Amino acid sequence: MQHSSTYRMRVKENIRMTAPDCRDTVVKLTLEPINTTLASFIPGQFVMIGLPGLDDPAPGYFAIASTPENPQVYEFFIKDAGPLSSYLCHVDVGAILEVDGPMGKGFDLTRFKGDDVYLIGVGTGIAPLHSVCLNIVRHREDYGRVIIYAGFLTELHQLLTDELDEWAKYDIEVSVSLEIGHEDWDGPIGYVQHALESDKLDGAHAVACLAGMSSMVDACTKTLQNLGFNDNRILLNH
Ligand SMILES: Cc1cc2nc3c(=O)[nH]c(=O)nc-3n(C[C@H](O)[C@H](O)[C@H](O)COP(=O)(O)OP(=O)(O)OC[C@H]3O[C@@H](n4cnc5c(N)ncnc54)[C@H](O)[C@@H]3O)c2cc1C
Repeated sequence: MQHSSTYRMRVKENIRMTAPDCRDTVVKLTLEPINTTLASFIPGQFVMIGLPGLDDPAPGYFAIASTPENPQVYEFFIKDAGPLSSYLCHVDVGAILEVDGPMGKGFDLTRFKGDDVYLIGVGTGIAPLHSVCLNIVRHREDYGRVIIYAGFLTELHQLLTDELDEWAKYDIEVSVSLEIGHEDWDGPIGYVQHALESDKLDGAHAVACLAGMSSMVDACTKTLQNLGFNDNRILLNH
């Protein structure tokens, strides 16, 4: 585990990720450190982001979506859900933010070399899994089957569509569930735990990394336990 640090970071990029006609906004926010280098981190760890010298809006936690192998920046996927996240979704390039971290356990896969890996997340929960996946891509031979189970509300809410397609070339399978589907959607419709159930995942030589809202994490944990996963093969990042 790294020691937590406090940084002043500059907004390098702020790019909308959700479709232009989606009523919800998720952005990719890229922050660069000012006159310092960033601490490395375990994929899956998160930081606390706040406005320098201000308590309002209160600082909040955001998972690092980028890879520790690019120490020049931290990237985040942020949904406009309240005062802080709304500020961050609309913040200008060049603005200065205060960042504490990295913190949390992350998803430490070093114990699971040779095993299958299931990365399961909904909405912006895909951020810490994105970091894990970038790491797996660089060390693909260390793992067996790798599947990303991503869940979004509608097709317009999907994140990273092109990048998820791209990961097929690294033999990473992708299952995208839409909570609200349509007749042309050829993936699963419903909650992501239903996709785990219908694929009858085998937990004997596998590890599952879960990220997202607590109701989703609880439901997926129960599903995985019912499928025979031991609790020590169901990982949370915090
Ligand atoms: C360990 C950890 C990691 C997190 N990582 C991320 C991340 O990578 N990206 C991100 O956008 N958020 C993330 N969050 C949530 C984030 O910390 C804030 O709670 C969120 O941005 C809303 O804060 P706010 O101050 O803008 O609004 P608040 O007034 O605190 O919240 C407004 C409402 O939005 C709900 N809400 C919060 N987050 C979400 C969400 N992502 N989707 C749907 N509803 C939500 C809250 O329950 C609340 O009802 C994470 C939280 C934790 C604990």
